[in-house]
Amino acid sequence: MNLSGKRAIVTGSNSGIGLGVAEELAKAGADIVLNSFTNRDEDHALAAEFAEKYGIKATYIQADLSQATEARALVSKAGGCDILVNNAGIQHVAPIDEFPADIWDRIIAINMNSAFHTSAVALPFMREKGWGRIVNIASAHGLTASSFKSAYVTAKHGVVGMTKTIGLETAGQGITCNAVCPGYVLTPLVEAQIPDQMKVHNMDRETVIRDVMLERQPSRQFVTTTQIGGTVVWLCSDYAAQVTGTTISVDGGWTAL
Ligand code: NAD
Repeated sequence: MNLSGKRAIVTGSNSGIGLGVAEELAKAGADIVLNSFTNRDEDHALAAEFAEKYGIKATYIQADLSQATEARALVSKAGGCDILVNNAGIQHVAPIDEFPADIWDRIIAINMNSAFHTSAVALPFMREKGWGRIVNIASAHGLTASSFKSAYVTAKHGVVGMTKTIGLETAGQGITCNAVCPGYVLTPLVEAQIPDQMKVHNMDRETVIRDVMLERQPSRQFVTTTQIGGTVVWLCSDYAAQVTGTTISVDGGWTAL
């Protein structure tokens, strides 16, 4: 797959899935805009490392995607993009009647609303070129629910709905919009859930991983960030030019149950 000359923005890409997706897009030759809410030397060093390792243009743009204006400014500052991967996301685990309202709002803002704002600004650039790819990193939780993850499940279902709508609004314009729905990928986000899950289920770490987290993932294997990145690269290829407004599950069989 040759994506050279394409500019890809990957939100939330200084760790986890976003970093893995950015790496696979860079390997395919795309120029990369990395993003997170931090503005550390190591964030900018990561972009320099990408440029050197993959022989592409790479920059890091700080934007706090809980803020609509910053989400929109990210795409403008990048000068638009050919590929937009809406990946940034956070999680909080609590029963709905104890779920803090401010954390609910933050999850909806980062996990769902930011994809609306970035897509809205990116689309005119894509239309001008007659080519574009929007890939939303949703989740198996965009298709099914789990207890104690109400805000996350709500946001991810919303992202799946937004994906379908953007797919319809861009059909026939050389632009596609799809959602990748991963099962459990062992990243810092998942790692951070383990103590909460241990508390909620009163279990030790190993039991939570085997019987709670991977209980619904029939393969009983974590998905890798490279596998998610490879799926995104495929969605950017000509093979997938007629794949739009849909979801691709990469979940070890979770949603087949
Ligand atoms: P992660 O915590 O490793 O990465 C999340 C990224 O989002 C980081 O780069 C973080 O800095 C960034 N981010 C967080 N808040 C932000 C903000 N306000 N503004 C800008 N960036 C922000 O987590 P991950 O597991 O790699 O998750 C990435 C995406 O994949 C999320 O949308 C998550 O819901 C989704 N997902 C993860 C899994 C999994 O098992 N890890 C499964 C399904 C879906």
